Amino acid sequence: MKRVFLLTMIVVMLLFSVIFNIAGCTQKKNAVTQSRDGKITVTATIFPPYDFVRAVAKDKVHLSMLLPPAQESHSFEPTPKDIITIQNSDIFIYVGGESDEWVNRILESMDTRNMTIIALMDTVDVVEEEVVEGMEGEEEENAYDEHVWTSPKNVVHIVRSIADALCNADNANAEFYRRNADDYISQLEKMDAEFQSVVDNAKRNTMVFGDRFPFRYFADRYGLIYFAAFPGCSTETEPSAGTVAFLINKIKAEKIPVVFHIELGNERMADTIAEETGAEKLLLHACHNISKKDFENGSTYIDLMRQNVENLRRALQ
Ligand SMILES: [Zn+2]
Repeated sequence: MKRVFLLTMIVVMLLFSVIFNIAGCTQKKNAVTQSRDGKITVTATIFPPYDFVRAVAKDKVHLSMLLPPAQESHSFEPTPKDIITIQNSDIFIYVGGESDEWVNRILESMDTRNMTIIALMDTVDVVEEEVVEGMEGEEEENAYDEHVWTSPKNVVHIVRSIADALCNADNANAEFYRRNADDYISQLEKMDAEFQSVVDNAKRNTMVFGDRFPFRYFADRYGLIYFAAFPGCSTETEPSAGTVAFLINKIKAEKIPVVFHIELGNERMADTIAEETGAEKLLLHACHNISKKDFENGSTYIDLMRQNVENLRRALQ
């Protein structure tokens, strides 16, 4: 009698596990609106997350970037076609800062139950934008700095989140995603070590930007001091005479060899400062977006950051 009861219990438990497994699988399948070729669809708002997905997923997904190459990222407004692209995504990745207020409005109006949504700012420890000496800006603004990807160490966390989402949405290729993510993370760690080595062997630790300053996470990571005209990605581009004079005096007083500008701007302020001080004008690429030519040539975040290693070396000598 006891044996019959035990056998019945085992059969019941097996049945339960089978039913629950089927339910689990069905749920998983529903979560992915697979395209005709079976690939999942991933959409990123701007270049950095687009490039991170490309590094991990390669040709196993349909990947798109909403921001056209060379376009300013902070004033981006989605087209109706962009909204459909988001709606059809299995994974949607955005930054989650002030520039992305439009995202929340759009996601609220959508059925996102079958979509995995990643906000980069949720994957790392965030800090507020900082108004340092000589910089224009309201002390009370205190917005969280959205440029989390400027520190390669942060990108390691971001890539882990992206790899998890890819593995969940497309389990058949999980091993491929894990292997690529591990490879990419080792490249990021190498890059992080290169920046650290430049800083450790440098004569100085101060950077001057004749521009806006989206590098708070970068500066914090390597213990760098910075002076710039505007915090974060302030929409202001015309500095006061006092701000420019402060930066010129800083370069002269400390004999700083380089004045930085960021990508896709007009560079006028950095030009003026370079002319007045004899400092060399160099790019520190914040990777918001890349030029059409770089995009077509397949330039990556790693390529841009590698150039940053060299330019930082020159600036800190
Ligand atoms: Zn920005």
